[in-house]
Amino acid sequence: MSERATVAMVRCADYGDGLGGAVERAFSLMEGERPREPNVADFSGKRVLLKPNLLTDRRPEQAVTTHPEVVRHVIRWFRRRGAEVSVGDSPASTANLQNVWRLSGIGGVCAEEGAPLISFEQAGARLFEQDGFAFSVAQPVLDADLVVNLPKVKSHSLSMLTAAVKNIYGVLPGYSKTMYHRQYPKLAVFGRLVAAIWKVIPPSVTLADGVVGMEGQGPANGRPVPLGFLAASENPFALDRTLCGMLRIDARRVPYLVDGLGGDYSCVGDTVTVGAFDVPSGAHILNILPQRLADVFGKLVWVRPAFSEAACVGCGKCAEACPVHAVAWSEGTRKPVLKRDACISCSCCHEVCPADAIRMTQSRILRMTMAFKGM
Ligand code: SF4
Ligand code: SF4
Repeated sequence: MSERATVAMVRCADYGDGLGGAVERAFSLMEGERPREPNVADFSGKRVLLKPNLLTDRRPEQAVTTHPEVVRHVIRWFRRRGAEVSVGDSPASTANLQNVWRLSGIGGVCAEEGAPLISFEQAGARLFEQDGFAFSVAQPVLDADLVVNLPKVKSHSLSMLTAAVKNIYGVLPGYSKTMYHRQYPKLAVFGRLVAAIWKVIPPSVTLADGVVGMEGQGPANGRPVPLGFLAASENPFALDRTLCGMLRIDARRVPYLVDGLGGDYSCVGDTVTVGAFDVPSGAHILNILPQRLADVFGKLVWVRPAFSEAACVGCGKCAEACPVHAVAWSEGTRKPVLKRDACISCSCCHEVCPADAIRMTQSRILRMTMAFKGM
């Protein structure tokens, strides 16, 4: 990542005719006059891997996954520069990959454009030890000359925001993504894990899909919200800091933006104004209570899932996704039951529920603190 990053903002109202021009303009603004390595102007023979957000099996209009037309135009943009383009991601562990590819529309776009769509689960991985963490990264990511990170701009019940930085979490194949929540339940530590992953990734650029984002109960069960922009940068931390400013999110509470990551950066391009943006009151809220008070109140301070019997379709995905087996499940009743003391507030169940039947709820003392702080 360069020392002083550029974040390029481009207005883009929809995924129609203007999208290709907006993608072109975002990359041009980001690049400016500076030579880059690899040089974007000539990608002859270079391997470029596009990494969209393919969290789970939802349709494009649900705004859970990166819009397939964004993927299409980025494929074409790099192809015009001679690149060998492929596309890959590792969805949530409970998702059926074929369904994700089909429903998201990205499978169809890749077939139409002739771009290989790679399953990170089946392509091998390499183990890294970085900043005190041990994790495996999918081999196709490491084999790329350039990774093009294509996140969706969404609220997130664990980290408040999921956009450029958090999207890289999908380079960890399979169930390991879930298990790291158990291994690193503290949000700040989890944030440093995400930052560590970035250090082993090949050179990258990010183009964030904020044309239609998600607010509320993100990253999977929120509301689509027209935001009207694309944002590009070589520095994902700087890009997310810019988004925090636009969406009025306190960057100090986004766990992977701690420690001033993002450095010095400047914004170029269009001025984009976003109206109200609703962020869920998830586990990040635990951070508002001073550690001293949290120690005193101990078990009275919590964020936990609540299951709606009316909405639940009895799929069992929440139990399957829970890294600490805090969701009791029986095939007989087909109703999830929370084992409260085991829950580590990771939101994995909330993230995979296909029926919007899970809300992350706060203890009374946490709600009182939030009210006191005007949240
Ligand atoms: S019940 Fe949900 S929030 Fe609690 S630990 Fe399990 S997956 Fe995480
Ligand atoms: S709460 Fe959601 S994920 Fe869990 S069983 Fe019900 S529908 Fe499935």
